[in-house]
Amino acid sequence: MSEGAAKKEEKPRKFQAIRGTRDLLPPETALWNRVEQTAHTVFGTFGFGEIRVPIFESTDLFARSIGAETDVVSKEMYTFGGFAEFSAKVREGRMEGMLSEMPPEEMISLRPEATASVCRAYIEHNMQQLPQPVKLYYMGPMFRRERPQKGRYRQFYQIGAEMLGGTDAPAIDAEVIETVMTFFDRLELQGVQLDINSIGDRNCRPKYVELLRAELLKVKDKLGPDSQRRIETNPLRVLDSKLESEQGIIAALPRIADHLCEECAAHYAAVKHQLEMRGVIYRENWRLVRGLDYYMRTTFEITAQGLGSQNAVCGGGRYDGLVELLGGPPTKGIGFAIGEDRLILSLQESGKAPAPQGRDVYIAWMGEKAHATAIRAAKDLRAAGFSVELPPIEQKFGKALGQADKLNARYALILGDNEVSEGLWTLKTLADGSQQKLTEPDLLQFLREQKPVSS
Ligand code: AMP
Repeated sequence: MSEGAAKKEEKPRKFQAIRGTRDLLPPETALWNRVEQTAHTVFGTFGFGEIRVPIFESTDLFARSIGAETDVVSKEMYTFGGFAEFSAKVREGRMEGMLSEMPPEEMISLRPEATASVCRAYIEHNMQQLPQPVKLYYMGPMFRRERPQKGRYRQFYQIGAEMLGGTDAPAIDAEVIETVMTFFDRLELQGVQLDINSIGDRNCRPKYVELLRAELLKVKDKLGPDSQRRIETNPLRVLDSKLESEQGIIAALPRIADHLCEECAAHYAAVKHQLEMRGVIYRENWRLVRGLDYYMRTTFEITAQGLGSQNAVCGGGRYDGLVELLGGPPTKGIGFAIGEDRLILSLQESGKAPAPQGRDVYIAWMGEKAHATAIRAAKDLRAAGFSVELPPIEQKFGKALGQADKLNARYALILGDNEVSEGLWTLKTLADGSQQKLTEPDLLQFLREQKPVSS
């Protein structure tokens, strides 16, 4: 067989979405839109304005803010180099050396989160000159090369908010938490549980981390390999461990609440008081630490039902110092990021998913004159907010009505040449099969008095 013939027989490749990414389809996208619309509304009532930041930024921005040694930066970012040589190094996982060799502006990464970008924008646009704090929210896709599973994707979506500048008054921490809790409440998210903690600041945390490390070294042999490694790299993360065999050991470790400096302890107590004043119910969780380096003092996490092991729908906390770390003026900051994919999953699990979208009116038409009338009727009905299906080619009424049924239409408007010449249109209610004959103005009036099912 010639090479050409072999080629001809090759089946064209069937493309599939890349592992860890997925298509969001109707009717599910209607739920995504409802969630996002509710976010716009609720965040707006708290005085937040929307910011849209780029999908990719300088790799260095993420390395510097999130921390070059974190999993997110060292293993999970999608990074591209300006030079082939550097791209190859990224592919081989030789990230560290490359970061120092590479002119930082030459490398870009898909954003794994958006807080760093928001801080970069705050500095770039001199937002410290605006009335403080500046309240910003965002929504959109983030990218992390994690192991995909239910509720964990490589392209996932976050809705987040940041309050930058002004004071670190505990009322600010409480208002940020109240914002997200109000949002979840509005969505009727079920089984919402807010956990809070304080992880101290530059003053007291390092001493606690050292104490924790010393205690962990004493029980090193009883810990799993991940925790053993973390004793060196990030002892706080050991507290995150879900390993059954480690739970007893962790329960006996020193707690940060007992080692906060006076200022941090007072701040934490005041945040709790402020939450109580707002009627926000919380649970203190001394083991709650954040995976990202820049957090300090208040940290919080919100879980919801129906999500299995990946049940965190929101993580947040205070990050005073991040703006300065990125070359801006000393600036207080606090924010959160909601995992929208998980939020949607939880809403679906509790039966909050919208029904498949139907049509209000299916126009069954036959004949040239009827087609012209049908086009006009569709235009009128759509302008009044109804969802209208207008078949592009003529079909027998029986077939058209079957089609209307399949599309879950509420009414079928039947237009034949008779109807058009008589000026009396037939409207069939598909649920009960009843029919009425109405003039054009009466029919439009009758429909307008119904609520569009598609709204
Ligand atoms: P983080 O930015 O790591 O603090 O995460 C904030 C929230 O984003 C988490 O509570 C999750 O709900 C969500 N999230 C983080 N990573 C993923 C992922 N790979 N897939 C889906 N959601 C995620």
